[in-house]
Amino acid sequence: MWNLFGNDWEYCIGACLCGWKEEVISFRTDKDYFCMEPVSIVPWDDKSIEDEPVWFQGLLHRMGDEETIRFLPFAYGTCVCPDCGKRAAYWDWLAKFIGYGWCGG
Ligand SMILES: [Zn+2]
Repeated sequence: MWNLFGNDWEYCIGACLCGWKEEVISFRTDKDYFCMEPVSIVPWDDKSIEDEPVWFQGLLHRMGDEETIRFLPFAYGTCVCPDCGKRAAYWDWLAKFIGYGWCGG
């Protein structure tokens, strides 16, 4: 599922419950537009797989993918729909867009 993202994190997709849809969401330049709030991700202990952002970041670190690590807090963070103003987790936008159903509650 991660390969949905472009290499440069310029073109991420997302959709809100209200029907709003966007195929070009940039973690790089649209932070203010979507009022993005990044999460903070603690360093991985190299063992636990309970906290996905944590081990994923650890894995990326091993792979030397510092670029992705930079934007990971935004991918796991929240953003605001420009249409209805509702804040949602970015993952929920992604899930909605690709039709995984709504998991945001
Ligand atoms: Zn909306």
